[in-house]
Amino acid sequence: MRHGTNGPTEPPLTGPLYSRLMDLGAMNDLQSIDTAIEQATHARTRLPEIVEHDAVVAEREALDVHIQRVRRAQQSAQNELDRLERESAEIDAHRSRLEKQLKTIISPREAEALQHEMQVLAANRNELDDRGIELLEGSSAADDEIVGLESRAERTRASEASLAERRRMAEERADSELGSLENRRRDAAAALDPTDLAVYERLRKALGGIAVCRIEHGACTGCRMEISIAELDSIKRQSAEVAVECPNCTRLLVR
Ligand SMILES: [Zn+2]
Repeated sequence: MRHGTNGPTEPPLTGPLYSRLMDLGAMNDLQSIDTAIEQATHARTRLPEIVEHDAVVAEREALDVHIQRVRRAQQSAQNELDRLERESAEIDAHRSRLEKQLKTIISPREAEALQHEMQVLAANRNELDDRGIELLEGSSAADDEIVGLESRAERTRASEASLAERRRMAEERADSELGSLENRRRDAAAALDPTDLAVYERLRKALGGIAVCRIEHGACTGCRMEISIAELDSIKRQSAEVAVECPNCTRLLVR
């Protein structure tokens, strides 16, 4: 890679790159439009209105997921409550059967066994009641949480709607700007000699979108490498229509 050297070993440019003259100015005009199209296409995908809208959509989706999660937890608490109620009813029925049985029992040993069984049932019943209270409290806290989440989701949905509209308008504007650049591109390409256009398209494809660039402060604006004084002299001696390439990146140089 040659870089800004002008020593005696530096070979001079061997002359014009292409045997024909080229309208490098017109090629450079086309290059400017293509670069503007690339920038506008890139900007089109990251308009601030898109970023803002995407963010609020993500926020609303997260709220919806959160609400569903709380609702599911509430539903499973409700299912457990239903089960507790059935179990409590069974325990109550069992206890009243035992109470009736106790009245008919004469043997103190059997009576004691029955009383013990009733105590165990009562303890189980208390446990179920405690768990039931815990579940009811949880469910009421979940109700409050859902109300808060719903109102946030509603506010988010409202701003989502207005941001969607702003996004649509910004996208429309960007598309129309791109459309007019495409029109200018068509005209600029049509104005070029077909052979120049073919050279331009081939270089552009091979060189990351930049086929033509300028020399500024002794350096190529395509690759930023300095061009040696000997090479600059040689380039200056050529007429403006003679195609000269950057010794480093091989892009066509406009001067
Ligand atoms: Zn270069």
